[in-house]
Amino acid sequence: MPSVDTRTHCPYCSLQCGIVLTAGARPATLRPQEDFPTNRGGLCSKGWNAATLLDHPQRLLQPLVRTVPGDRSSPLRPTDWDTALDLIADGIVATQEKYGRDGVGCFGGGGLTNEQAYAFGKFARVALRTAMIDYNGRFCMSSAATAGNRAFGIDRGLPFPLADLAETQAILLVGSNPAATMPPAMQYFDAGRAAGATHIVVDPRRTATAGGSSLHLQPVPGTDLALANGLLHLVIKEGLVDTDYVAERTRGFAAVKAGVASYWPDRVERITGVGVDQLLATVRGLAAADSAMILTARGAEQHSSGTDTAQAFVNLALALGLPGRPFSGYGTITGQGNGQGGREHGQKADQLPGYRKLADPAHRAYVAGVWGIDPDELPEPGLSAYEMLDRMGAEGGVRTLLLMASNIAVSAPDVNRVRDRLAALDLLVVSDIFLSETAELADVVLPTAQWAEEEGTMTNLEGRVIRRRRALPPPNGILDDLQTMKALADRLGRGSSFSADPVEVFDELRRASAGGIADYAGITYERIDAEDGVFWPCPTEDHPGTPRLFADGFPTADGRASFLRVDYAAPAETPDASYPYVLTTGRLMAQYQSGTQTRRVPSPAQSSVQPEAQLHPDLARALGVENADIVELSSRRGTATFRAKVSDDIRTDTVFVPFHWGGVSAANALTNPVLDPHSRMPAFKACAVNLVRLGNP
Ligand code: SF4
Repeated sequence: MPSVDTRTHCPYCSLQCGIVLTAGARPATLRPQEDFPTNRGGLCSKGWNAATLLDHPQRLLQPLVRTVPGDRSSPLRPTDWDTALDLIADGIVATQEKYGRDGVGCFGGGGLTNEQAYAFGKFARVALRTAMIDYNGRFCMSSAATAGNRAFGIDRGLPFPLADLAETQAILLVGSNPAATMPPAMQYFDAGRAAGATHIVVDPRRTATAGGSSLHLQPVPGTDLALANGLLHLVIKEGLVDTDYVAERTRGFAAVKAGVASYWPDRVERITGVGVDQLLATVRGLAAADSAMILTARGAEQHSSGTDTAQAFVNLALALGLPGRPFSGYGTITGQGNGQGGREHGQKADQLPGYRKLADPAHRAYVAGVWGIDPDELPEPGLSAYEMLDRMGAEGGVRTLLLMASNIAVSAPDVNRVRDRLAALDLLVVSDIFLSETAELADVVLPTAQWAEEEGTMTNLEGRVIRRRRALPPPNGILDDLQTMKALADRLGRGSSFSADPVEVFDELRRASAGGIADYAGITYERIDAEDGVFWPCPTEDHPGTPRLFADGFPTADGRASFLRVDYAAPAETPDASYPYVLTTGRLMAQYQSGTQTRRVPSPAQSSVQPEAQLHPDLARALGVENADIVELSSRRGTATFRAKVSDDIRTDTVFVPFHWGGVSAANALTNPVLDPHSRMPAFKACAVNLVRLGNP
């Protein structure tokens, strides 16, 4: 077969770097697209090695079922698709007869294409008629999304193109380390810094991103809300509020002004550990610039007060008059490859396509019309991700779970409990490309296509809808997720409502999203090809798309953005005598999410990266720990072991661990599943732990 070049995108993070995949003769190879407008010729090590997984020897090539049906201690054995699909359909029918429709649940992922995410939401509501569907984006973007909807009436990660980062004169970056997580994006930060921009990074660790900044604030994890309120207090005190903007484009400032009055700098310093001089330098740096951006990410958002923390930074941005101004605004940096699109089209427990709401009668009627069903057939909103997982197998909980593109046995908080709940299910079905830690626990495992073997669209961190193009066929005998859903819907008597053709699914998604907040009606595959992606909202085929939001107003009833008073409360779990240190978690450059894919990459640059616990030399000395010792971390929920990485890049009271591993080094054996009351986001980024030295084998 002759080699053919296909322009497509990296399968991993939300930057969705453009690549050229050369397929035909195997193994396939890849190189970056020099002209794609986000990566402009750059790739990180994950992207460079992505093609090595296409022919990986551990790849799943046949469905697997238990040797003894219902006995998960018996080995998985290969079977044919009809046997596997019949078993799943029979299990769904049996569960719903015994426990009702909500006895079956669906769990999706931010790695699914828009077409797959849309189809999964529809599959749950139309084929299964269950309320129980949510996805791993609940663990990722939900707090910033909730805050964005409350403040601006819309949730789009960046309301401006990534390239604007190079043009702005000041950036306040909170809880993000793009130098490690998406290195090609650093070209925009670097260009801004070279042009004299002020970059202030907020992170408990001196990361590569923080190290290159103008100013690094190093707060206690979980105190960012107090920090933001303290900054706003100083903005008001220093007379730096953009009063015209606040009067003309916002509502609710008076209550917020009263609310931050008590955030005196010395009080904020006591809470956060950030000095008064640094607080002052931050507000003066932001206010002195003609253009400025405030960007948050998971470090600020994955807390029991994550939504209010994001809102506190929105309040700061509004007081400075940033959203809608050229090269300015508030944004959040999405993590997963299709974290943005995955939350727009119905995978969330409370949402229908186009960001329509399942609880809104008019929205229900519109989408039901597109789907050809009675609105009364649509279920009500279901449980959020962790709430659904927490009740699996229990009274009123789901008994059968269908899971796509997610590895919750590694990525969920308090993962030991989640593994126990998975064991209590009557039927667990996992679709994946490898035997992930979750697939190892399943009754039925379905092999699926990889990124280079399927057509579809993804929506990147800017809201740019791009095409994932098929460069080569999947191995013989593999169905992609659209085909699997169609085959199951056929067996459940709803097959006529489903298509396995991505173009047909995308056309239906366009109709279902038309008139919604995330309006894709004017986006076609042909336009994406011709324009290097199209930014939503894009209501008609002659609409140019919307790279920049808010220039002329906000999509709210009165066109204004909302200030909202938010107050600091300590993290749900703080250090005490038994668990005296703060644990925070994050990502490494060489690994991606739960590591199902990147831990299998044969490149030494990736496979040599091991799970390490980063701690300060002062703390290491006090505990008798030396670099490379084995240490055990314990929290109220579990234990995990890591090699110690002693470094003065971290606060003395804080320990950092990466979350890419399961087993004995599972960071999420430690994390706290307490939920943000608004977004239902777990508190991944701050809990209390103890640390002891085990030895140095
Ligand atoms: Fe680009 Fe992200 Fe892929 Fe790295 S992982 S190549 S930054 S899309």
